Amino acid sequence: MNYRRPVILKLTCPSCGSEDIVKNGRIHNGKQNFKCTACSRQFVEDPQNKRIAQATKDLIDKLLLEKMPLAGIARVCEVSESWLQDYVNRKYEAVPQQVNVSSKKRTFDDSMR
Ligand SMILES: [Zn+2]
Repeated sequence: MNYRRPVILKLTCPSCGSEDIVKNGRIHNGKQNFKCTACSRQFVEDPQNKRIAQATKDLIDKLLLEKMPLAGIARVCEVSESWLQDYVNRKYEAVPQQVNVSSKKRTFDDSMR
């Protein structure tokens, strides 16, 4: 298996959807900043949409079982806490009440809200 995956760097403006995007320097953390020439909206490539490797997700699953706090997992796995919270939420929706040790205890998931 050796298929090529073309790298598409086509960006669209999150505000107006225009594809007339120009580079606009870098923001404080070194990420490329872009600017829409149509509406002047400035933005960086959406870090929330970053693909998380399956290996990282496997690690996160293990750390969740260790009851490690989400903030700690986010640091160790170098993912954003908001992405992780979202991941956990989706995970718990996908596996409803499979592991229900104590129904009286609030899950750590709830306590994070
Ligand atoms: Zn725009």
